Amino acid sequence: MATINGEVQQTQPARHQEVGHKSLLQSDALYQYILETSVYPREPEVMKELRDVTAKHPWNLMTTSADEGQFLNLLLKLINAKNTMEIGVYTGYSLLATALALPEDGKILAMDINRENFELGLPVIQKAGVAHKIDFREGPALPLLDQLLEDGKHGSFDFIFVDADKDNYLNYHKRLIDLVKVGGVIGYDNTLWNGSVVAPPDAPLRKYVRYYRDFVMELNKALAVDPRIEICQLPVGDGITLCRRIS
Ligand code: SAM
Ligand code: CA
Repeated sequence: MATINGEVQQTQPARHQEVGHKSLLQSDALYQYILETSVYPREPEVMKELRDVTAKHPWNLMTTSADEGQFLNLLLKLINAKNTMEIGVYTGYSLLATALALPEDGKILAMDINRENFELGLPVIQKAGVAHKIDFREGPALPLLDQLLEDGKHGSFDFIFVDADKDNYLNYHKRLIDLVKVGGVIGYDNTLWNGSVVAPPDAPLRKYVRYYRDFVMELNKALAVDPRIEICQLPVGDGITLCRRIS
C-alpha cells in the first residue's frame, strides 16, 4: 500500500475475476465491495442466470457488468421510460435489465448483427416474462436507423442505449439525436474505453483497444460541445455518457 494525496492506493491491485468486469475504480476491492454489498444481493434471479449463461460464452468480456445493469434498470425507472432502443445486444444482459424496468406495455427495439448470441440468452428473457417487450432486429444498426427516420419516427424514443461498434457512434449520434424525444436520454457505453483515453501514445494497448480508442475520444469531444444535449459521463462499468436531448 502507498498513499497519494492522503488516499490509500494499492500498489499491486488484484485483477477482477468477474465476467464483464471493466471497473475503472482504483481499487478492485472497492469494486468487489459495491458488487457484494449493493448489487448481487438485489440482482433478480433471472439476471444472475443470464450472467451465468454468458460466462460460458467465449466473448463474455463484452457483457454489461452487474453494477451497470443495476444502474440502467434504476435509470429507466427514474425517467419513466416506455419506448426504448438498444444497439448492441450480445446475450442480452443490458436488454434484460431494460425489459425488467419497463412497464408491461413498454417496448425495446433491439438491434444486433448477431442473432445467435441473442438467442443464447432468449430462454432466460422468456422465463423472466418480458420477451413480449422486445422487438429484435438482426442486422447493422445504421440502415435500420435510417429506415426509422424515413418512417417518421422522429422524437419517439424515451431512452436509447448504444453499446455496439464504437467506430460508428458518431454516425449513430447524427441519427439518434432526431429519434430520441426532447427530454429523452441516449446512453453511450464504454466512453472511457478501458482507461485508454488517457493512455500515452506509446502505451502497450491491445490491438482492438488501440483501434477504437480514437473513435471513442472523437465521440467524447463531440458530445462535450454538442449544444443539443446536456451530458454526464459516469465512471460506471467502462464509462457511460448520458445525453439528455434539450433541443
Ligand atoms: N449490451 C450487450 C450486453 O449487455 O451484453 C453487449 C453488447 S456487445 C459489447 C456489442 C454488440 O454489438 C455485439 O453483440 C455485436 O454483435 C454488436 N454489433 C457490432 N457491430 C454492430 C452493428 N454495426 N450494428 C448492430 N450491432 C452491432
Ligand atoms: Ca459495453
